[in-house]
Amino acid sequence: MSQTIFYIILTLIIVEFFWDRFLLYLNTTKWNSKVPSELSSIYNDEEYAKQQSYSKVNYKFGWVTGVYSLLLIVLMIIFDGFAFVDNWALSISDSPILRALIFFGVIGFASTLLNIPFSLYSTFVIEEKFGFNKTDAKTFVLDMLKSLLIGAILGGGILALIIWFYTATGIYFWLYAWALVTVFMLFITTFYTSLLLPLFNKQTPLEDGELKTAIQLFSDKVGFKLDNIFIMDGSKRSTKANAFFSGLGSKKRIVLYDTLVNDLSVEEVVGVLAHEIGHYKKKHTLWGMIIGILQTGVMLFIFSLFVGSVDLSAALGVNEPVFHIALIAFGILYSPISGISGMFSSIFSRKNEYEADAFAAKYHNAKSLISALKIISVKALSNLTPHPLYVFFHYSHPPLLQRIEALRKFEK
Ligand SMILES: [Zn+2]
Repeated sequence: MSQTIFYIILTLIIVEFFWDRFLLYLNTTKWNSKVPSELSSIYNDEEYAKQQSYSKVNYKFGWVTGVYSLLLIVLMIIFDGFAFVDNWALSISDSPILRALIFFGVIGFASTLLNIPFSLYSTFVIEEKFGFNKTDAKTFVLDMLKSLLIGAILGGGILALIIWFYTATGIYFWLYAWALVTVFMLFITTFYTSLLLPLFNKQTPLEDGELKTAIQLFSDKVGFKLDNIFIMDGSKRSTKANAFFSGLGSKKRIVLYDTLVNDLSVEEVVGVLAHEIGHYKKKHTLWGMIIGILQTGVMLFIFSLFVGSVDLSAALGVNEPVFHIALIAFGILYSPISGISGMFSSIFSRKNEYEADAFAAKYHNAKSLISALKIISVKALSNLTPHPLYVFFHYSHPPLLQRIEALRKFEK
């Protein structure tokens, strides 16, 4: 039986790789050197050629990183790499919690190290070449260290507690784990902008001036507190512009990148802000979290049915049921289901984007949001013509031209 699971795991990894590459390939069939007419006023031929070449460079780079990751995981599985690391962890501690922490510590650290050359190349060669990169070496190193540390503290803490639940309650651990993950998700969603984000970026309240006055007028009109709107130093890393809504209750916050404020007119910034307030008014964050909590519950329950199986751990070369080894094997076996739930999340997210756009059109106007979206997407050299199947599976936002088309319906 463990042999069969071993082959299913390998097959899933390889099929998933080719499926991803196939969807990405479909995108390349839509490449076209002619600027879509909707954008011909702000995109010249030379800039659009640059966009096409940015897409091509990223496509090729995606092949390299994709094959590299595929080889790493396939070699780990064929040569019992997970069993090797687990044996080493066991030689240090036979406590199930410490053993799992050492195991994931080694795997996490090694995979970060192995990926450094690719993130260096992506940031300092590709993004640099196309004029996006503003990250310096210090920021790059600090970002990586901070992410590792946060991952170790949060991930390690949650894992330790879940394994403790498992040793204490057996298969009912999933209920306790679900409660823990739910509390954790609530905590992170609530405090993301006040606790985690400040470790990476500075957020400042709006300065007095034309923009603040315009935002004040609009936020009063729709009932959103001005104190919850911040400008963030996104320009520290990249020239790409963005904005987002995050948080729950009194901790809710809209964050506008400084790059957005610099690139757009006051009216356009208010258009983007109106879209973000739309996410808040339509309770998108709350619903997203409820769906996430339900998906986690289903996954933990199914995992609880298999965690104690000898065959599951044996498929990865460990001849006793071990929680963290079963977790890795289960993670791969569950990937088709997580792929499908990811697809539904994307559909849900695109629906929310249309709703937030409609809110902005209704309470502000469609025109300024349309022109803001155009500028943001042109400056970021975004793909204007993704393949519909790729969009269906992976896009959290509808493609620009479809958003414009929907917004036009609100213009009179
Ligand atoms: Zn949005």
